Amino acid sequence: NCKNADDVLKAVRDYNVSFVQFWFIDIVGTLKSFQVTPNELEAAFEEGMGFDGSSILGFTRIEESDMVAIPDPTTFQMVSWRPTERPVARMFCDIMKPDLTPYENDPRHILRKVIAKAAEKGYTFYVGPELEFFVFGDSKSPQLLDVGGYFDAPPLDLGNDIRRDIIFALERMGIQVEYSHHEVAPSQHEIDLRYNEGLKMADVATTYRVVVKEVARKHGAYATFMPKPIYGQNGSGMHVHQSLFKNGRNVFFDPKDPNCLSAECKSYIAGLLKHAKEFCCVTNQFVNSYKRLVPGYEAPVYIAWAQRNRSALIRVPMYKPGKEAATRIELRNPDPAANPYLCFAVQLAAGLKGIEEGYELAPAVEENIFAFNEVDMDTHGIESLPGDLYSAAKELEKSELMKETLGESLHRNLVENKLAEWDEYRTHVSEFEINKYLPVL
Ligand code: GLU
Ligand code: MG
Ligand code: MG
Repeated sequence: NCKNADDVLKAVRDYNVSFVQFWFIDIVGTLKSFQVTPNELEAAFEEGMGFDGSSILGFTRIEESDMVAIPDPTTFQMVSWRPTERPVARMFCDIMKPDLTPYENDPRHILRKVIAKAAEKGYTFYVGPELEFFVFGDSKSPQLLDVGGYFDAPPLDLGNDIRRDIIFALERMGIQVEYSHHEVAPSQHEIDLRYNEGLKMADVATTYRVVVKEVARKHGAYATFMPKPIYGQNGSGMHVHQSLFKNGRNVFFDPKDPNCLSAECKSYIAGLLKHAKEFCCVTNQFVNSYKRLVPGYEAPVYIAWAQRNRSALIRVPMYKPGKEAATRIELRNPDPAANPYLCFAVQLAAGLKGIEEGYELAPAVEENIFAFNEVDMDTHGIESLPGDLYSAAKELEKSELMKETLGESLHRNLVENKLAEWDEYRTHVSEFEINKYLPVL
């Protein structure tokens, strides 16, 4: 557990590290990495390492393309899937402009900003994401490796060995795992991590995705975080459990409320509900994300909250006596292909907005919303999430809160990128159309 550059330099000597990978991510959350030799490290901490920002998605700047990556020593870790002999380590980087001030489109910087805003009010933001994934034969087609379902045990669960190795690899990188299981769909799995502070958790989620993919590859398989790889089956979600602490106490907990939820918690939920349409393009950023957000597959469609109901956008797990620290809410629409930094940033911003403005929380909806018709929806005043990437991008474009949270530059880049993706999709002639129309028209 390194605290500063000196700790890192010492660890690199002690463990005979041969390279240090410098990690950062682009605006859609793709991991970027380059390898630095130990000799260069000291200078890297002081001046950073330069790279060409114009080749990184969303990092284009009008003035110039030179960018600098400065490693964050607190993120130093051995890379657990690489050889133990002459090992490799990694650090996450903060992206700077050539004058060494933070680059405004760096997703890590954006999350830091929102966390700092919460900290001004005394809040610490904790998150616990549940990243589901599929394991297939290879990356060419969704070829199933098992026919298991929810909580199935071996022999139906053939991912058992892969999951076991993933968990060990995560633990070797200091990532705490709570439990793991086969998920609802065939070849689908989930490994749940112990909750952590927001920025750390975004780093952890990024690491988790690499570890899952690398370990699956060692088993000759392919792991994917694609939100909806198989028509007619559950997709993969990334439910985000979240809470705010102040002076070491969970501010979402209030013993005087019948549901043990504080006024702050209710306004926070109201903030998420009110701005869900606007942040959906960030939490669900691909054309394919919207094929998961349809009724009937345990993924939310309607903007409502509930205590038991898993069809709602937000679920509040039941309070267990003595467990006030665990009081939290679960936002169910994000998917594991989201950029974890921006995904957590927009949620926190929406929740904080709810608290700041004292938003009123509408009553919980405990009925199965999937069974509602249009009239029921209207009487309950329930709206839907955007139905496709285009509507989501348009909502994002209009949103003042998102512009403020993401910064004008990243906000604009993201909207442009998503509209371009939509256009590519819209003009594509799919297998569905060929099969449906060609024989009859
Ligand atoms: N796979 C479901 C989704 O798309 C969630 C299943 C669950 O409740 O864990 O969100
Ligand atoms: Mg799950
Ligand atoms: Mg869940």
